[in-house]
Amino acid sequence: MNQLIRCKNCDEIFMKTPFDQYPEYEFGSGRSLDNFRSVERDDFQEFLIHHHGHQLENLKVIEDSFVSEKAYSEPVKASFLKATNGKERFVVKKFRERIDEPLKYLLVPGDYSLKCITVEVQSEEIAKQLKREFKPPLAQGKIDAFLKLYRAIVEDVAIEDLERIPEESDRPLEVYYRIDDVSLMYLLRNCHNIFKGREYSAMEEFIHRHKDDGVLLLKATYRIQFTEIAKPEKKGTPASLPFEEEKIVKKR
Ligand SMILES: [Zn+2]
Repeated sequence: MNQLIRCKNCDEIFMKTPFDQYPEYEFGSGRSLDNFRSVERDDFQEFLIHHHGHQLENLKVIEDSFVSEKAYSEPVKASFLKATNGKERFVVKKFRERIDEPLKYLLVPGDYSLKCITVEVQSEEIAKQLKREFKPPLAQGKIDAFLKLYRAIVEDVAIEDLERIPEESDRPLEVYYRIDDVSLMYLLRNCHNIFKGREYSAMEEFIHRHKDDGVLLLKATYRIQFTEIAKPEKKGTPASLPFEEEKIVKKR
């Protein structure tokens, strides 16, 4: 279990992980296995010694607060999370500047929220799949008309009401959502204006087949918005900047 500990005197934090007491392996200058030495490390002990006599407290990481501009799998990056001691809320920057460095944790002033920038239909993916599955092929004009219709319907969708499909994305700021049933019905109904007879039936099957498997998922892109909170001792700056609550663009 990871444990986040804050020194109230120094305003420093430590993330205690199960790995802190594992030995770390290093290459010696010769780079042969003989020079492979293990270095006993106990970072937590070091933290405790450094903050001896200081007041320490446990922080609880706020669920779903993790944000980062880079992919989950990217090792060199900065990410942010929020934590609380039950009374105050803190922003923690977690970062690594080089791949061979351990992760560092830093308390940073201010706050952040996520802003939804765009909600897109996966036009390329849909067109590709329609071309692959329709025999005889659909006319390009009909593919374009379908994409235009789907985009128009998505414009009226409130993204925060949709079901999130987290496994579809490896980037924290790109989130996929499943279209709701009402919009789906509306899409099907309007497809009657583009497709007739057997073509319509095939299209209906296509929509049901792909609403869950990724092709018809909506892709929302978010941006991290940082809010600085000005320090009160600084003169000439406002006591606090307007605080932007977590907000998602609503078009409805
Ligand atoms: Zn301290």
